[in-house]
Amino acid sequence: MNWGNLTVTMGIGYQLPVCGQMAIGKSEDAVFHHIYSQSMHPLEMVAGQYKQALKTWLCPACKSPRPGTKQIDVVVERMSAGGKAALNLVMGTDVAVARRDLLLSLGTERVSRDLYVGTVALRDGSLIDGLVTFRGRRSMLVRGSKNVSYQCCVECGKALYFSTIGNRYLVGQPPLGAEIFESQMWGLIFSNEVAKGLDLAKWDRITHEVLPVLPVPIDGLGHLDPLAGDNSED
Ligand SMILES: [Zn+2]
Repeated sequence: MNWGNLTVTMGIGYQLPVCGQMAIGKSEDAVFHHIYSQSMHPLEMVAGQYKQALKTWLCPACKSPRPGTKQIDVVVERMSAGGKAALNLVMGTDVAVARRDLLLSLGTERVSRDLYVGTVALRDGSLIDGLVTFRGRRSMLVRGSKNVSYQCCVECGKALYFSTIGNRYLVGQPPLGAEIFESQMWGLIFSNEVAKGLDLAKWDRITHEVLPVLPVPIDGLGHLDPLAGDNSED
């Protein structure tokens, strides 16, 4: 990668056109890692809990946890084919699920400080060993360049950002006080420091991408409120 050029090449076929100068410091620090699920088999919450969730923490309009929601414990119908995925989600809820050992590989102290971790259980109450839900105390928006849409949920105010094609990147410096962030793609974002020594290719059904940090967005949407994705109270 050469930040002095007008094109940043990151892997095969990944070319990010850069407009104007890049006000970015050392290249090693100017990228973040993003991992998200490839699973086509989300977990399914039991109907009774889903109904109750819609009256409490789950927004009925956008079907996402309301901003400020912390630990979420879910009860699922069964272990689906997605049970082996290192990252997954609970269908119709935007609740992210991870293998516990993947989270812990990011550092126990970081995880307990930066993520709200919940349980995944079966209807009979038995916990599914090794699977947990997670919510970031801080979130970051993975921005795009083409086919982008953004709105705030009219019910809960959550930032709803979609980008289906084009290059992806982050904008500006990450929120202070955390090293691991939740992405709107039910994924995790973390720095080079956290990624050091990790073999992210070994995990089942996840995509790992390296995201540059741009000083300004290239999706035409300008500055977006990062607090719309903030789940903490501090
Ligand atoms: Zn909502």
